[in-house]
Amino acid sequence: MRLSSNWTLILVTICMAFFRPGKSFSAVDRTKAPEQAGKQESNPTKAFLLAFGHPVVDEQVARKVRAAQVASIARLTPFIIFANVINTIVIALSFQTFVPVEYLAVWLIGICGFLAFTTHKWLKSRKEPVEFVSRNALNKAVLHATVFSSFWAVVPIAAFVSGDANGIWMASCVTIGMLCGGGFTLATVPQAAFRWVGILYLASLVSLAIGQSSDIWMLFLLLTSYTMVVICSVASAGWLFASHFLAEAELEQRGELIALLLNEFEEKASDWIWEADSAGLLRNISDRFLHASGRTRSELESKRMVDLAYSLDEAEARTALVRLENAFDEQEAFRDIVIGIDVQGEERWWSLAARPVIDEHGSYAGYRGVASDVTETRRANALVSHLAEHDSLTGIGNRSWFLKQAEMRLESQTSFSDDTLTLFLIDLDNFKVVNDTSGHPAGDELLRQVASRFKVIGGEATVLARFGGDEFAALGRFESDEAALAFANDLVSVARKPFRIGRRDFAIGATVGYTRFRDSRDTLDDLMRKADIALYKAKEGGRGRALAFEYEMEREVLERRELESDLREAFEYEKLNVDFQPIVNARSGEVVSSEVLVRWLHPVRGEIPPDTFIPIAEHAGLILPLGNWVLKKACAAAALCPDLESVAVNLSSVQFMDPNLVDHVYAVLEETGFPPERLVLEITESVFLRDFGSAATKLEKLRDLGIKIALDDFGTGYSSLSYLRQYKFDKIKIDKSFVDEIGERSDGLAIISAIIALAHNLGLEVTAEGVERQFQVDALRTLGCDTMQGYYFGKPDSNPMKIAQIRKEDWEDRSPSTAPRNPSDMRSVS
Ligand code: C2E
Ligand code: CA
Ligand code: CA
Repeated sequence: MRLSSNWTLILVTICMAFFRPGKSFSAVDRTKAPEQAGKQESNPTKAFLLAFGHPVVDEQVARKVRAAQVASIARLTPFIIFANVINTIVIALSFQTFVPVEYLAVWLIGICGFLAFTTHKWLKSRKEPVEFVSRNALNKAVLHATVFSSFWAVVPIAAFVSGDANGIWMASCVTIGMLCGGGFTLATVPQAAFRWVGILYLASLVSLAIGQSSDIWMLFLLLTSYTMVVICSVASAGWLFASHFLAEAELEQRGELIALLLNEFEEKASDWIWEADSAGLLRNISDRFLHASGRTRSELESKRMVDLAYSLDEAEARTALVRLENAFDEQEAFRDIVIGIDVQGEERWWSLAARPVIDEHGSYAGYRGVASDVTETRRANALVSHLAEHDSLTGIGNRSWFLKQAEMRLESQTSFSDDTLTLFLIDLDNFKVVNDTSGHPAGDELLRQVASRFKVIGGEATVLARFGGDEFAALGRFESDEAALAFANDLVSVARKPFRIGRRDFAIGATVGYTRFRDSRDTLDDLMRKADIALYKAKEGGRGRALAFEYEMEREVLERRELESDLREAFEYEKLNVDFQPIVNARSGEVVSSEVLVRWLHPVRGEIPPDTFIPIAEHAGLILPLGNWVLKKACAAAALCPDLESVAVNLSSVQFMDPNLVDHVYAVLEETGFPPERLVLEITESVFLRDFGSAATKLEKLRDLGIKIALDDFGTGYSSLSYLRQYKFDKIKIDKSFVDEIGERSDGLAIISAIIALAHNLGLEVTAEGVERQFQVDALRTLGCDTMQGYYFGKPDSNPMKIAQIRKEDWEDRSPSTAPRNPSDMRSVS
């Protein structure tokens, strides 16, 4: 049978305590013992070894343990002395009859001297209690036990040697009593106890051997079994003592560590510990807590955490308060409850975590937890979410925030089957012009002013956001269609009032498309699409107005969108063309100029008129490259026709608003080498409707280059005449509608005559458009019109100079005075 390593260790330790009590296991010794090699003792083993003085723990702890061992013996010392005195007296009295006086006297002197020495030591140790004890002190205890037990070992031997029955009886009692009593008294220092027991046991054996009793074996067995019991009890008591002490030391160490950590926590962290009693009143208030609360200790001690949370009247704080109250009522553990507190007028936020404290009787004794001031974090978070949800320029919501809000409102509308929700999309008119002509800071300021005006009319109930660029959106509840329309019109009209930026006034405007929530299956995307369609239609119809979505719009707009993408593709793949329509001199009939007209042959829909696709190109942002392309084509073609005095190119109003228009035109002239004097740019009145003071300069710059400017479609607008005075042109083109009235209305001729006279007075050349009939030609020539254009002379064609075959006699007969000198000029030049 093999003993487990623990048992081996225990036996080895006990044996060592008997024979080499001062010697201890060192690290080296242990590695020599194969069972222990490389092994870390478990706690019970450690305690056992520690009881025997082996250095298995920190020297600091070991010293404390030794001090406790010694102190424990010291506590019993008066009783030991007392028992020894009694024993000594009894032995002296009973032994005097058979032991020679001188021997007895020596023994008495020895033992009394030693008792006196022990008493003196004990008195001294009481005056200065020792906290730490070296290993030497234990050795001294062993020596002490050796000397003392040796005195007592003499007693049984002397009795048995003398053979006095009374003496033997007395000595046996004293020896057994001393063996047991001494062993137990010294139990906290097992080495000393073992030494004591060992010596008395040996003395008893010697006595038995001297006595030669017939019952010697029985006595021997009795003696040995008592001794074994004492040894085991001593070992166990010593081990218990050390275990207890070791546990205590460990607890103390842990306590110190916790205290250290808590100290650290209290001093450095922004958090603090808080406690409340069973009534919820705050207790054990730390300095940090005091400081954070901005209140006095007595004030805090009369309050509950809930009372503190009551101090701030704020929506979020109130919700947290309810949570906190519930947790207290239910006596539940909680965490991350962020309460708001009024700290000397400042709003602070604390995050609380705590758990209920249960006392030793199992009843609720309050709360203990941690609090941290999260005000700064909250502020930072609020800033971050504000930035994430707001438009940094205008301070109103941004697109993603708006969509989130819209989604929420839509959901509640659907669940309450309410249909008052209305979504508005707002697009500023002419914003780009402000940005381009006055710079981005002015544009930014304008957007800010627009946003604040919208905010005023929207009020609290309306959700407002800037989607980016010059696009805004609003969402609100409107009981009736009329109310929604009124709001939309308000948006338009506030944007129409001039905006003052710096020292200038800017007139822009806004176009609004909106939709009412009518179909409960509509998603937010549907609403957005519908409002967008309405906006598209509103813009198409001339901007500066509000339009509600109607179902018919959808098909139309879809078609337009399709066209838009087709046009984009056609332009990209150079599927567009230009035609030229001749303009002839009214007197000579010569082709003097040619108007360039863009053409698009759609693969499915066939020929699409420019009246249709030019606005699409404008809307799609395609007009600038497209216009440039037409200009280039015109210049390149006209450069090849030296007979052509000039070539006329149409400019859309969007093109004209381009701040870089002059540069672009100049670049094309440079590139094609076409002389500016031969270029005529045709613009319509619509250009001036959107003028912000730059039109006149632009016209001037173009004219400075030598380019001629024609006012197209003259007479169709409202203020054609006033523009003639305001801006400088080279030419006007009388619209076809006036030409058509020749011979149809009695005053038709009178009007044209007045226009021509006026233009000539202003030094402008006059071209009549849409001339289709011979009598129109005659009348216009008679009225002194300078040039004519129309199907009569030629339809638009890829050849810049191709004109129709006109019968020579017609031309000459009807208007002999102004007939061309050379009729051959009237023929095609190609
Ligand atoms: P517009 O500048 O007034 O051009 C004259 C329009 O009248 C042309 O129509 C031409 O084909 C048509 N026309 C000319 N003579 C007669 C006639 O005797 N009878 C009739 N019934 N029509 C005649 P088109 O080509 O359809 O162009 C329409 C409008 O599209 C143009 O009106 C012009 O404003 C615009 N446009 C055409 N090409 C361009 C272009 O390259 N750029 C820009 N921005 N606009 C263009
Ligand atoms: Ca034109
Ligand atoms: Ca025209």
